[in-house]
Amino acid sequence: MPPVSWRGGGPSLWQATAEPSPHCPPLAGEVESAVAIVGAGYTGLSTALALAEGGVAAVVLETGEPGGGASGRNGGQVIPGIRHFPDELEAAFGREAGRRLYEFGLGTADAAFALIERHGIRCDAGRTGWVQPADKPSSMDASRRRVEQWRRMGHPARMLDRDEMAHVLGSRAYLGGWTLPGGGTVQPLSYARGLARAALAAGVRIHGGTPAIGIEPAGERWRVVTPGGSVVAGRILLATNALADGLWPPLSRGLLPVWSFQVATSPLSPHDLARVLPGRPAVSDTREVLRYFRLDRDGRLVIGGKGRLGGPRGMGSFGLQRRMLRRLYPGLADQPIEHGWGGQVAITLDRLPRVHELAPGVLASIGCNGKGVALCSALGRPLAEALSGRPLAELPLAAAPLRPIPLHGLRPFHIAAGSAWMKVKDWLA
Ligand SMILES: Cc1cc2nc3c(=O)[nH]c(=O)nc-3n(C[C@H](O)[C@H](O)[C@H](O)COP(=O)(O)OP(=O)(O)OC[C@H]3O[C@@H](n4cnc5c(N)ncnc54)[C@H](O)[C@@H]3O)c2cc1C
Repeated sequence: MPPVSWRGGGPSLWQATAEPSPHCPPLAGEVESAVAIVGAGYTGLSTALALAEGGVAAVVLETGEPGGGASGRNGGQVIPGIRHFPDELEAAFGREAGRRLYEFGLGTADAAFALIERHGIRCDAGRTGWVQPADKPSSMDASRRRVEQWRRMGHPARMLDRDEMAHVLGSRAYLGGWTLPGGGTVQPLSYARGLARAALAAGVRIHGGTPAIGIEPAGERWRVVTPGGSVVAGRILLATNALADGLWPPLSRGLLPVWSFQVATSPLSPHDLARVLPGRPAVSDTREVLRYFRLDRDGRLVIGGKGRLGGPRGMGSFGLQRRMLRRLYPGLADQPIEHGWGGQVAITLDRLPRVHELAPGVLASIGCNGKGVALCSALGRPLAEALSGRPLAELPLAAAPLRPIPLHGLRPFHIAAGSAWMKVKDWLA
């Protein structure tokens, strides 16, 4: 078992099996650019790539390396759609904007796989579908409503009964559920690194090891300050997600960073692979405190779910994931665990993603709430258009005022109380 020595756990399965990172040297000196982007995850990189393809110069600043945040640590599940029903989106954003977001959500997985194909990104991408199993009758009812809505919009969603789901999963742990053919899986860190490579090839400058430590006006433009230099740009995108720090304090007060942990087993035997997830779909269940699992390229079972406050502290932190393994696949209870790691998911109080205009020319896109592989990839193009002058009102995700979470200073309390409440909802529903 590799040592668990760094704050996010690890080394993660994805670090151990990823394509190499492109060279992204730290920023030195002052540069000018049309757009400066803070954060080299899927949001920042897909936006930078779309900007460069549209002939707009972009510089990306990243504290660590591309994909060092959630984008390189996630479950790699490419999940189409927005988790909310259209009527909920209409209530949150208004009728027209709510529907626009819902319709945009229908195409997010297509957008991610199209990027991968267009740029030849080597990330073990498989369009093997996505299933959402349900473990309670009320969740089965909600799944039926989802299927009806997707089918009404012309998408081939369908319900799976208990036996069908058992066949898809190789486990009888669920009552059934629903499925969408457009989803699948990727190696998430290879995907982030591939996006970075595509952006570099298109002319984007990416500076790793370069934390943005201040943003200040520079005449009509903005200056993003880093330890080794600065970028003067007409427009800025903060794509810092759950890792928003003190750079723009109200931004971090608008979300809660919640840890999610994963483990990866050793590769399963051919005998086990014949029955465990034989079609290799992405699987994430209907719980408020989401549980998710899949196979990797080499047949390891990767299982994720909620983690403890403050991040992993050794392999003892992965008790939930081990219990999931035993419950889902009792025959694999003794399968060795090779990796355990964690990452922070940006949760907004209403669980909706947000685009904010923090000041004239300064945008932030945050809160993909655990569904960002497809969604953040798809948001790149519209965000690039907004940064190139397209009215914000035309974004698929309408710009909303930033509403800091009340008493955000009590963040650990909020996260603990929120997690407890979500668990109670899972238990009651
Ligand atoms: C454990 C886990 C599992 C998940 N599983 C899935 C899944 O299976 N499917 C799915 O769709 N979604 C999943 N998600 C969510 C998904 O990973 C995110 O929604 C998505 O990666 C967000 O991308 P991003 O670019 O917005 O943010 P990030 O990838 O977090 O990137 C933000 C970047 O900003 C950088 N940064 C922050 N502050 C600064 C600064 N001041 N200066 C410079 N750089 C800075 C960070 O270093 C980081 O690299 C999961 C998330 C986690 C944590």
